[in-house]
Amino acid sequence: MEYKNFPMVPRVVFGRGSFNQLGEIIEPKRTNKNSPFIFIVDDVFKGNSWLVDRIPLKNNDKIIYVSAHEEPKTKYVDQFRDDIEAEFKEIPSGIIGIGGGTMLDYAKAIALMLTNPGSSADYQGWDLIKYPAVYHVGIPTLSGTGAEVSRTTVLTGPEKKLGMNSDYTPFDQVILDPELTKDVPDNQWFYTGMDCYIHCIESLTGTYLNAFSQSYGEKSLDLCREVFLEKEDRDKDSQDKIMMASWHGGMSIAYSQVGVAHAMSYGLGYLLGTKHGIGNCIVFNQLEEFYPQGVKEFKQMVKKHQIDIPKGICKDLNDEQFNIMIDVALGLVPLWENALGKDWQKTITREKLRSLFELM
Ligand code: NAD
Ligand code: ZN
Repeated sequence: MEYKNFPMVPRVVFGRGSFNQLGEIIEPKRTNKNSPFIFIVDDVFKGNSWLVDRIPLKNNDKIIYVSAHEEPKTKYVDQFRDDIEAEFKEIPSGIIGIGGGTMLDYAKAIALMLTNPGSSADYQGWDLIKYPAVYHVGIPTLSGTGAEVSRTTVLTGPEKKLGMNSDYTPFDQVILDPELTKDVPDNQWFYTGMDCYIHCIESLTGTYLNAFSQSYGEKSLDLCREVFLEKEDRDKDSQDKIMMASWHGGMSIAYSQVGVAHAMSYGLGYLLGTKHGIGNCIVFNQLEEFYPQGVKEFKQMVKKHQIDIPKGICKDLNDEQFNIMIDVALGLVPLWENALGKDWQKTITREKLRSLFELM
């Protein structure tokens, strides 16, 4: 048995208003005055002076506003990298992602692709990255994905939806300022919060479970329950707690794996562009037979928060389209193995997946 030697984020700040420390944190990392910091910022913040005016721009530093409408694609990552290289003579001092999982993944991917030649599509997989990334910082404004701690950046490429998993992927610095999440729309707060809840259920019920993952997963699950089942308001305490739940959920899966919901949600994402949080909810809603307790509790949360989980998104698909989703899902072998053990192929047939997708 060989155990994973897992890299962790070496520096993290936590606290309301800690975003104000960004300037003093990054300035010592400036390599020279021509080498900019590039801020990858969710375009939902464009014109939002409360946030944008606090971004510590100096010299030729630049904000690039990016839409989170679509999940990151390899071709966009390559394009951002090419544009940055064309505009600046020097390699940037750092890349700072400000937003939800989409911006965090863009920041990680661009930082990696500034030092690794070729297309990001060449690096979708495990440990294909050869050179350390440019210094990169993650600042979540939406809690749940765990992208702030993870060793991957999930990308949709020409052939697959798969992350660039590597020791160079994790952020060098994370700033956890729960206040930044205060204006997230309620539905999105729920969907991405449920991503975290589902990480916990898939990790804690999986065959890969171990004390390391369990210790983080249980804490995260407790926090999710407090926020989504016990509390009446989305108050400051909830913002703090779900931000830490996301962190712990990410730490939990780092040393185990996700499961059925994620495998199938990747299929929806690849074919239909369904975003991760809502896609996980659509799938998880139909997974009683795999996660009876988790799905029961999930439904209580949906009810309490009066969330609509879309139904019927697969109703007009043809055989070819179902097959694409099934191929993507079946390709995620470690997820199935974690969920159901080494013999997973006995229960998970193409017909089985088709019948589940048809319910969605
Ligand atoms: P997101 O980043 O896609 O954002 C969802 C929506 O919320 C967007 O419309 C965005 O503009 C909005 N938003 C974000 N912060 C806001 C704020 N403070 N106020 C108002 N609106 C705000 O959502 P997400 O669920 O955080 O991230 C999903 C992405 O994360 C997917 O691309 C998925 O693949 C990725 N992901 C990565 C990992 C990883 O380990 N790298 C893990 C899970 C998911
Ligand atoms: Zn997830």
